[in-house]
Amino acid sequence: MVTLAQQAVTQRIQGVGMTSHRTRGRMIDRLQEQGITNSRVLKTMRNIPRHIFVDEALASRSYEDTALPIGYNQTISQPYIVARMTELLLEHDDGPSKVLEIGTGSGYQTAILSQLVDTLYSVERIAALLKKAKDNLWDLHFKNVKYQHNDGGWGWPEFASYDGILVAAAPDEIPETLLQQLNIGGVMIIPIGQKRKQKLHKITRTIEGYDDQVLDSVSFVPFLTGRS
Ligand code: SAH
Repeated sequence: MVTLAQQAVTQRIQGVGMTSHRTRGRMIDRLQEQGITNSRVLKTMRNIPRHIFVDEALASRSYEDTALPIGYNQTISQPYIVARMTELLLEHDDGPSKVLEIGTGSGYQTAILSQLVDTLYSVERIAALLKKAKDNLWDLHFKNVKYQHNDGGWGWPEFASYDGILVAAAPDEIPETLLQQLNIGGVMIIPIGQKRKQKLHKITRTIEGYDDQVLDSVSFVPFLTGRS
């Protein structure tokens, strides 16, 4: 029997009007116009309801190409950036199967990654955000994600090494600890730099060392130390 609570969850996920599947389709069209080509990324983003990851009061804006506040001075990343980072991460040779995400935030990027990799490890330093993200992924029945409430500057050594690492907050410099947790052939997508001067980097671990490609100018919240 379906309970009223379950019905409410299903209705929330389905959305209506500005949060409907159709509105999401327009977001996908825009991503393609902006140059996103990976069909697996586009298909996954078409299926995942971004509106459940933002506050109800902002839900009608959830398919605009903009970052939105999620509380605690943090933001859900702009859809284009989420698509771009995911696409870059998937350029790994065989497609990454074991991935570490730093900065779970709302859990939107987590939800997308979880559908494209075998196992996802996601670390967030703000407990309240992590709890909300977990609840949303649970409602979506996405169960291949392990979560940790910690300072992601430590990575997650217990399960290292990883085929891919995606970092959603910007440190001033590339964190050495995270580099060490990459597999040979593994790829890390990370914004580096101070406010308004950040660049997205794609770092590939090779047998000899690390190959660092500097890509787009981006704007992320800062990578902070400690937990809260
Ligand atoms: N992809 C997320 C982005 C959230 S914003 C989304 O779309 O919702 C970046 C997140 O990184 C914030 O939740 C912030 O708390 C977290 N963060 C910043 N520094 C961190 C660190 N050292 N370890 C773990 N999480 C961190």
